[in-house]
Amino acid sequence: MSDIHDFDLVVVGGGPAGTSAAFEAAKSGVSVAIIEKEKTIAETVRTSGVTWMQSIKEFKIPNDCYNPIKNYSFCSANNTVTIKDKTPSAAVLDVRKTYRWLAHRAEEQGAVIFTNTAVNGVVKNSVGNIAGVTCVRDGKKITFHSKVTIDASGFSSIVCRAMNLAGQWSRFGAGAEFEMQAENVDSDTWWLMVGQKYSPAGYAWVFPVSKNVVRIGVGIGKPDSAVDPTERLKMLLKSGEGPIKNLGKTTPIEFHYGLIPNDGLSRKTVYNNLILVGDSAGQANPLVLEGIRYAIKYGRIAGNTAAEAIKNNSTDEKSLSSYEDTWKKDIQGKINSAGKIQDRWLRLTDKQWDQELDIIKELKPEEFLDFIKAEFGLTNMVKMATHHPMLAVRQLFGMIKPG
Ligand SMILES: Cc1cc2nc3c(=O)[nH]c(=O)nc-3n(C[C@H](O)[C@H](O)[C@H](O)COP(=O)(O)OP(=O)(O)OC[C@H]3O[C@@H](n4cnc5c(N)ncnc54)[C@H](O)[C@@H]3O)c2cc1C
Repeated sequence: MSDIHDFDLVVVGGGPAGTSAAFEAAKSGVSVAIIEKEKTIAETVRTSGVTWMQSIKEFKIPNDCYNPIKNYSFCSANNTVTIKDKTPSAAVLDVRKTYRWLAHRAEEQGAVIFTNTAVNGVVKNSVGNIAGVTCVRDGKKITFHSKVTIDASGFSSIVCRAMNLAGQWSRFGAGAEFEMQAENVDSDTWWLMVGQKYSPAGYAWVFPVSKNVVRIGVGIGKPDSAVDPTERLKMLLKSGEGPIKNLGKTTPIEFHYGLIPNDGLSRKTVYNNLILVGDSAGQANPLVLEGIRYAIKYGRIAGNTAAEAIKNNSTDEKSLSSYEDTWKKDIQGKINSAGKIQDRWLRLTDKQWDQELDIIKELKPEEFLDFIKAEFGLTNMVKMATHHPMLAVRQLFGMIKPG
């Protein structure tokens, strides 16, 4: 194999953003390479994999890739709420299976996947715009030339950092999780656990993957708290806190660890010949730091925009800008509102969390789901901000901008 490759589009990262971008671009008829540093797609799992049935249907994710959820439980130091629904609106993904299915779909459209290939720099043209990437594979240098590059490298944002377009994220979430066999799993119900003992700046969780497997994890905001999520997770498992004690005997299957940006939508996401998408663009809902559905959705739009620009022989920033206009119109307002609620949540004491759960109890399932998904304005939330008899409810929903 030659050490220099030419593709119309190079997508850096074989996560959900990269494989979705590659799928759409290859479908549009341009040549596409996905470059992934790990030995296989989804070799390492860095996410808990919760998403929504609406997105699963939209993306046509196969039935054997997820466990549906219809009950949503929260616990704080001295309070518990369970919002029960009749049908599942959330799901916990089999992350490996889903990400490999996404990659396979891109390959079916003609995208070529280069695994075990780590991007370590960029190629620039005579005017300083990106014209490809340099990589290392088994100690050997490989160069990829491209008309457009998509940075879908997640938290590391390797391409935009190599171009000096952005530095390290200043705020981010760090999460540690064990996937475990457990004796007593309620596979319809997820748990979010809040307050100092679970996470001093974030939350802990129990997400059922199947009838006998759960993911138990802790997420902690940085630099808000210095606590190490792995240590806190081990502590919670040892003491069997909250819903963990009801799981019976647990046996670890796999450990997961990951970082997710939490700087809001601080980055510009299109440049001449370059698009940023997914975590690399900071596209995550800050309420629960979930980004998989955005990665897939905006990955597809990024891939499509890049392919059209390539076919039109015009790949400058202006020609790619419709991608940024689209995602901003779609989620900027929601993410900004969700960021305000997250800031409030980060300041809550244990006693205030107990009270916050009393507010969440007021929500009907569809309202709770819109709230946690940051789909504000679809249900009664805006009305609650002005008309609800409880001041605390008005204050919480008053932060929400409809849209
Ligand atoms: C602990 C934790 C729990 C989470 N839980 C949820 C959840 O329940 N639901 C949800 O929706 N979201 C969750 N998220 C967020 C979600 O995982 C991300 O938003 C999502 O993975 C973003 O997808 P992506 O494709 O942009 O990035 P990634 O999934 O990170 O994919 C990036 C890919 O790029 C590759 N790569 C990186 N650097 C290079 C390089 N130099 N060369 C080549 N390849 C490279 C990586 O190996 C990786 O495969 C969680 C995040 C964390 C950290």
